[in-house]
Amino acid sequence: MSSSASNCTSEDEKPCEATPVDLPRIERAVREILTAVGEDPDREGLRETPARVARMYAELFSGLHTDPKIHLQKFFTEKYDEMVLVKDIAFNSMCEHHMLPFIGKAHIGYVPNGKVVGLSKLARVVEEVSHRPQVQERMTEQIADLLIQELEVKGVAVVIEASHSCMSIRGIRKPESMCVTSAMKGLFRTNLSSRSEVMTLIYGDRR
Ligand SMILES: [Zn+2]
Repeated sequence: MSSSASNCTSEDEKPCEATPVDLPRIERAVREILTAVGEDPDREGLRETPARVARMYAELFSGLHTDPKIHLQKFFTEKYDEMVLVKDIAFNSMCEHHMLPFIGKAHIGYVPNGKVVGLSKLARVVEEVSHRPQVQERMTEQIADLLIQELEVKGVAVVIEASHSCMSIRGIRKPESMCVTSAMKGLFRTNLSSRSEVMTLIYGDRR
C-alpha cells in the first residue's frame, strides 16, 4: 500500500540526501488528500505520487534544518565602504498560508563596516531563508536582519519582488501581479540619497 521512504530514487530524480523530514508521514498525508478530493491513490498514475511529493517537500522545506547565518560568518576584512549590491537573485519559496509557491528575485545591497562576504554567500542566504514555509514580508526582514547581526553593516537594503501562485491560480486570480517588499536599515533608512541610489541601481530605467 503505502510505499517505503527508503525507496528514495527514480529514473528522473537524483537520490535524496539524508533528511530530518518524516517522509513516510508526508506520504500518508498526501494519500489522504488524494482520497479526500475524490481520487483513487492506488490508480497507476498516482501510485508514486505520495513518495514523490514527500521528497519534493523535503527539498522545498530544507531551509528549516539549516542555519543561514553560517554563510555570513565566512567574511573577509576589507576597507571598502561603498555599497555592494547583488541583484536578481532568483528564488522560489512556499507561501505558508496556502502552501503554494511564490517565485521571484531578491536584491541585496549593503554598505560594509569592515566585513565583506563572498557574493555567492548572499545567494546561499536567500536560498535557505526561502526554503521554508514563508511570507514574503518576513523573508525580506530576515535577510536584512542577518546582515545586520552577522556583518554589522552600516546599512542594508533588501528588495524582493515575487509573483504568488496563490494569487494567480486561485482566489482573486491576478496572474500579472507582482508583490514587492523592501527592508531598509541603517543608512538606507536614514539617508534618502543612499536609498534612492540603491533603488536606481536595482531598477535602473524600469522605475
Ligand atoms: Zn498564499
